[in-house]
Amino acid sequence: MATHEHLILVEHDVEGHATGWVTAHPDLPQVRVTDVAATRGDGVFETISIGSGHPQALAAHLERFARSARMLDLPEPDPALWGDAVRALAELLADHDEAWVKIVLTRGVEGQPTPTGWAYGTVSADFRRERTDGIDVVLLDRGLRSDVSATSPWLLAGAKTLSYAVNRAAAREAARRGADDALFVSSDGLLLEGPTSTLVVRRGTELLTPPAALGILPGTTQVDLFAAAPEWGLEGRVATLTAADLAAADSAWLVSSVRHAAPIRSIDGVERAIDSELSAAMNGFLRRRLR
Ligand code: PLP
Repeated sequence: MATHEHLILVEHDVEGHATGWVTAHPDLPQVRVTDVAATRGDGVFETISIGSGHPQALAAHLERFARSARMLDLPEPDPALWGDAVRALAELLADHDEAWVKIVLTRGVEGQPTPTGWAYGTVSADFRRERTDGIDVVLLDRGLRSDVSATSPWLLAGAKTLSYAVNRAAAREAARRGADDALFVSSDGLLLEGPTSTLVVRRGTELLTPPAALGILPGTTQVDLFAAAPEWGLEGRVATLTAADLAAADSAWLVSSVRHAAPIRSIDGVERAIDSELSAAMNGFLRRRLR
């Protein structure tokens, strides 16, 4: 086992309640091949960044974990128990500037009532290039209307489910087109989110982000950036945005828990200005968050 990998198994009873947790060996088999996480992607997850041993935006991640679980009719995860598991892993990773913990709750082994849960933590990749030089982004049609969460809640738009094969495919399509990342657009032309990130744009003194009601994940990083925006003379606001709005914006970022704020330096091959000073301020703030 590499010493920077740590695992906790969160145990559940047949009613679906978490009963406690134990540390486990990340290199040993822990999940049954008939667990619906493996066979159907039927479960939810969160990825929490850890800065020098401090879980960042932990309460918001645990709230979103519970929201995703509700959307999938999974048992309500106990925030105190999951929070303790995350903090325990964070402490084990305290020697590293940047790390992350992924928490997972699945419907369990096919045909059995007991959910499966675990928390895994390790060291982050180095994202200095993305944060400083920026990323090339392509717009990809998600093929869903912007009212999908109201018309078709069974599509689970905006839930953080384990069914991320589509998000991974979008990232590969972006790479095929020579880009670093993708930004999804609804079939009726509204900007949505990246496969693992939230869009934030600056227009004048405003920071704007698309509404979660469009069927996107409410981002924890975006919420923290909007709370800090007054420090930079800016005000955060939710707004529907189109590709034309993005092209006309002063600057734009894809923001997320582990990569933090990646300024967008081109869209579909068209270069755009990045705001190095504000990007550095945002990333400094995100890196130092103690809550
Ligand atoms: N949107 C999607 C689809 C994501 O998967 C993620 C994070 O992985 C985000 C947005 C950004 O959320 P957060 O800032 O809470 O990491």
